Amino acid sequence: MKTMVRSVYLLDGGTLEVESSMVVAGRDFGQLMRVPVQTYLLDTSRGYVLIDTGNNPGVITDPVAAWGAELAAGARPRMEPRNHPYEQLSLLGVDAADVTSVIYTHLHHDHAGGASLFPGAQHIVQRAEWRWASSPDDFASRPYVRTDFDRPDLSWMFVDGDLNVMPGIHLVSTPGHSPGHQSIVLWDAPGLGTLIIAGDAINCQSNIDGNVPPGLATDPGAAMHSMSRLVALAEATGATILNGHDMEQFAAMPKAPHPLSAPVRS
Ligand SMILES: [Zn+2]
Repeated sequence: MKTMVRSVYLLDGGTLEVESSMVVAGRDFGQLMRVPVQTYLLDTSRGYVLIDTGNNPGVITDPVAAWGAELAAGARPRMEPRNHPYEQLSLLGVDAADVTSVIYTHLHHDHAGGASLFPGAQHIVQRAEWRWASSPDDFASRPYVRTDFDRPDLSWMFVDGDLNVMPGIHLVSTPGHSPGHQSIVLWDAPGLGTLIIAGDAINCQSNIDGNVPPGLATDPGAAMHSMSRLVALAEATGATILNGHDMEQFAAMPKAPHPLSAPVRS
């Protein structure tokens, strides 16, 4: 069936500065790297679909108030007013009310922080991610800010594994970084070919090149399998992989208000 996606936009949610070894396991212990916080807007024949929502916009003025001191110190966010999701959408003349669905790769602070900005949308996440995020083991609890997503005013749809959620928009279960992580495959997007929005299943090209999972993973073995699966899928279909936190790739891609225009090879 023909895809319902008409165009794809990359939104700029600011940056974080994190330990390199959190991005690529074992790399450059003690060194910091600045990584993008990125989300995507899909213009579809069923309305606008947002993929991830970035940081809680409270981070613009007070990261400690939004996240607590420990997470704010660990993630070192840089988020300006222009990085607010509403400001990014306004570049395209889109209002929050125009967003009909929000799909989450997972519920970490830099992906689900803007959920409350879209009270009229249907919010879509893997059931395993919701369960884990609602009650994570202590070792993995820091990246979750429960008040960001566990809100009575939001309507959630829980997915169990893979789902063709809309013609051309395919959710693929990719656990490992977190137990309910998912990636999004956009089949045959107009002018773009097939895109794999990896989320944090693949942080950057170094994960692929070194065959190394994300440093932050609840299950590194599962993370390896998920990454291999996406790389194999890309090779089999000629798809382009859009990594979750890859500054080099992010810098090379057109950003809203410009649509993604051609496959990006990193
Ligand atoms: Zn994450």
